[in-house]
Amino acid sequence: MGTTECKHYGAYIGGEQVDASGGETFEVTNPANGQCIATVAKCTEADVDRAVAAAAAAGPGWAGLPVSERSKALLRLSRIIMEHQEELAALETSQHGSPIRKTMGFDVPLCAETFEYFAGIARAMTGDVLPVGPWARSFTVKEPLGVIGVITPWNFPTLMVVWKLAAALVTGNTCVVKPPSVCPLTSIRLAELCTEAGIPAGAVNVITGSGETVGEALVRHPGVAKIGFTGDTATGKRIMEVASCQAKPVGLELGGKNAMVVLADADIDAAAEGAVFGSFFNSGQVCATSSRIFVQESRYEEFAEKFVAAAKGLRVGDPMDPATVIGPVPFGAHRDKIERYVASAKKEGATLLLGGGRPDTPETQDGYYFEPTIFGNATNDMEFMRDEVFGPVSGIATFASPEEGVALANATPYGLSASVWTEDLRLGLNLANQLQVGTVWLNEHLMLFCETPWGGCKQSGYGKDLSTMVLEEYVHTKHIYIDTTGAQVKPWYGILK
Ligand code: NDP
Repeated sequence: MGTTECKHYGAYIGGEQVDASGGETFEVTNPANGQCIATVAKCTEADVDRAVAAAAAAGPGWAGLPVSERSKALLRLSRIIMEHQEELAALETSQHGSPIRKTMGFDVPLCAETFEYFAGIARAMTGDVLPVGPWARSFTVKEPLGVIGVITPWNFPTLMVVWKLAAALVTGNTCVVKPPSVCPLTSIRLAELCTEAGIPAGAVNVITGSGETVGEALVRHPGVAKIGFTGDTATGKRIMEVASCQAKPVGLELGGKNAMVVLADADIDAAAEGAVFGSFFNSGQVCATSSRIFVQESRYEEFAEKFVAAAKGLRVGDPMDPATVIGPVPFGAHRDKIERYVASAKKEGATLLLGGGRPDTPETQDGYYFEPTIFGNATNDMEFMRDEVFGPVSGIATFASPEEGVALANATPYGLSASVWTEDLRLGLNLANQLQVGTVWLNEHLMLFCETPWGGCKQSGYGKDLSTMVLEEYVHTKHIYIDTTGAQVKPWYGILK
């Protein structure tokens, strides 16, 4: 890892990169070595105004196209993304620390696939003809909302933008994206590729800068019709509060503290493998990560042993090395937070079974690395089992009966996802019905597809990403009634006579 070039990126407004109106910039660093990789425009409220104006100006032209044309533009974009797979993957890895094998094999292909999926399903969206009576035609049409503010977190910097952007664009909206400050670069590059794909200038804009200033200005902006937000629950609550002044709709994909419930009859080898993926994919920086693992008492020892053995071999190191599966976390303050939770888990009496510290290898000395960490003898009331650590740290606790397992899984303010591991599918389905979450996996954890809806309940938010359901999030359903006879035979006419 040698010294890298520190390139300048502007915000992306009206089809070009522009400097912030105040001329200020902020730095983006590579978490693998702490070196600056980019300076980025630090936008102001005036830049938010500019971006919203550009999106509003592009709106009528984009919304006025037949859906087939918008769909074709998304298909071109999908192809262009794959043509830039190596470039986008390397940029994502350098700003985020996610291993190149994941950014090449997961993030970029899934971004391309998401545009492809929405290009297809949008063409099948229809309204309804409503059977009000023989004297009228009554029907619904779906209209775009206008300018959508897309505010996204750092854990999957590109994919979280794409999930919302694809659905919002194909339904005829235009967008202003506010990407996370630690990882904004791929969003800017993606916006350039949108223009290259023939999506009109101004339809996709990216404003860069702090959430508290430009993010909040976007939420407050009267020209923004809806906010699509993914991020922390506390930020989501603040966004609801700010948006309420205009009764503005917000979609909220928030945090999670997801349970794996492993029953005594489960295939423990499969459950241990599932726990490795659920806990350490993307270094556990996943809203749906399996950070609370509940195992029925009689299988606890066996599960803990197999989980630890399977996680032991995960290579932590330079994320640009194709052999690496765990890179650094994106920034130093985040590693500090993870370390505080590990200290608190030890203090509260959990047993450290694996990891728990910074790896001690020459290649990890300059970056924000943290080992995959497993605690045993955890309980649901320990701080690290209650809060979203959002790092490679999982705790294993026990339960006596399936009812207790479900009760423990539900004992959290979050409601995003959970998994149940059992050979008895009837019992598994019964427990799935009782889990208060948006997604339940049986004998799997962390399986997401374009075709399946994603979103939580309780304090994990509301609204959906992905699947055909998300199209409804970005349209307004208008009812149109046409009197076709003029005859005064309708139900309410007699009331005034
Ligand atoms: P944050 O909530 O801190 O930030 C998310 C985005 O909101 C960033 O772009 C941030 O900008 C911006 N922001 C911050 N404050 C405000 C504000 N007052 N008004 C408007 N925008 C604001 O989340 P993280 O980036 O830390 O992401 C991690 C969180 O995301 C976790 O809780 C995780 O569970 C959740 N998440 C949920 C998913 C789901 O599908 N349910 C999926 C992925 C992640 P800036 O970066 O400049 O601070």
